[in-house]
Amino acid sequence: MNIKMVDLKGQYNKIKSEVDTEIQKVIENTSFINGPKVKEFSENLSQYLGGISVVPCANGTDALQIALMALELTPGDEVILPVHTYVATAEVIALLKLKPVFVDVHPDFFTIDVRQIESKITKKTKVIIPVHLYGQCADMEPIMNIANKYNLFVVEDTAQAIGAEYSFSDGRKFMAGTIGDIGTTSFFPSKNLGCFGDGGAMFVNNNKLANKCNMIANHGQRIKYHHDIVGCNSRLDSIQAAVLDVKLKYLNQYCSARQNAATVYDNLLKDIDGIITPKLFNISSHVYHQYTLMLDESINRSALQDYLKDRNIPSMIYYPVPLHKQVAYIQAENQDSYPVTEKLSKTVLSLPIHTEITLKEQEYIVSTIKEFLKM
Ligand SMILES: *Cc1c(COP(=O)(O)O)cnc(C)c1O
Repeated sequence: MNIKMVDLKGQYNKIKSEVDTEIQKVIENTSFINGPKVKEFSENLSQYLGGISVVPCANGTDALQIALMALELTPGDEVILPVHTYVATAEVIALLKLKPVFVDVHPDFFTIDVRQIESKITKKTKVIIPVHLYGQCADMEPIMNIANKYNLFVVEDTAQAIGAEYSFSDGRKFMAGTIGDIGTTSFFPSKNLGCFGDGGAMFVNNNKLANKCNMIANHGQRIKYHHDIVGCNSRLDSIQAAVLDVKLKYLNQYCSARQNAATVYDNLLKDIDGIITPKLFNISSHVYHQYTLMLDESINRSALQDYLKDRNIPSMIYYPVPLHKQVAYIQAENQDSYPVTEKLSKTVLSLPIHTEITLKEQEYIVSTIKEFLKM
C-alpha cells in the first residue's frame, strides 16, 4: 500500500481531461497574468461563498498581509491571534511592525479560546485574527460580539477551512471566511481547494475595502502606472485560476469525501484507550483539512510515528513548536503561558486524510496503530 498524507495525483487523474483542456486554453490565449480566467474563477468562488467579493492574490500569506495593510494600522498596534497556528498568521503581523498578541486555544476544538480574548485587549488592539484550524471554524459569534464591543477588525484565516459553514445562534449560516471584515485563504496544492503552484485570495465584505485590497495586491494602482497607495505585487496567475475553476466545481464533493473518511476513522478509533478523536463543534461543519488526534501523554508519539513510518504510513505534527517558543517570536511574547497549546504541541498527531483515501487504507492505518499500542 502506498499511503500518502494527500493524494494530489489520484485527485488529478479523475479530472485530468477537464483540467488539461482549461490549462491548454490559457496557454493558447497567452493572457497568463490578470487574464479572463482569473476574473471568472473569482466570480465563481464569490458565488460559492454567498456573494462576497473575492480578491485573488499570490498565496495565503500574502492574503493575510494585504488584508492587514488594507486596514490602515499603525506600527505598534496589536493584533490578537491564536498561538496554535501556522507561522504565516503571526509572520505578517511582525513584518508590518505590528505586535502579535497570542491567545491560547480551546482544549476541545483547537481554535482560539474566546473566553480568553477580552483579557488580552488593550488600547492598542486593532484586529482579531481567528484561524479556522484543521478545517473547523473558530467560534465566530462571540468573536464578532467582542470585535463590535471594542471596535476591532476581524480577519479570518480560512486557509484550512474553505467550504466549512458556521451557524449563528439565530440560525443564520455563513461560509467560513465571510463573517469578519476580511477572510483570507490559500490555494497551496495540499489545501482543500488547491492549485498546481501557489495561490491565495481574500473574501471582503464591503466594496470599498475590496477595492483597496485589490489595489494593494497590484502595486497600489487602480489605473495602470498611477500609484495612489503603497502596495505589493501579489497575483494569482491564469493557469492556477484555470485549475481552481475546475476544482471549485468539485469542492463540495471533496469536502464530503473528507467528512466520510473522518467518520470512518471516528468509528475505527472510538474505543481505543489514550486516543481522542477530533471533537465536532455544533456551530460549525468540519471539512477535515487535517484529521488530528490528541494522544494521551503516556503514548510515545515519536515511537508511534516511527512505527507507522516503517509500515509506510505517513503522519504529521501540526505544530511541533508553539509560536511563543519560536526564536523569531519569543521577543514579541509577554512571557504568558499557553498550557493547552503546549500540551497540543506534545500530543497531537495528524493521520492521512484526503479525497482519495480508501477504507482499506484507513483500516490498515488503524490496525497498525492498535498493534503499536498493544506492544
Ligand atoms: C497554509 C496556511 C497559510 C499560508 O498559506 P500559503 O499559501 O502557504 O502562503 C496561512 N495560514 C494557515 C492557517 C495555513 O494553513
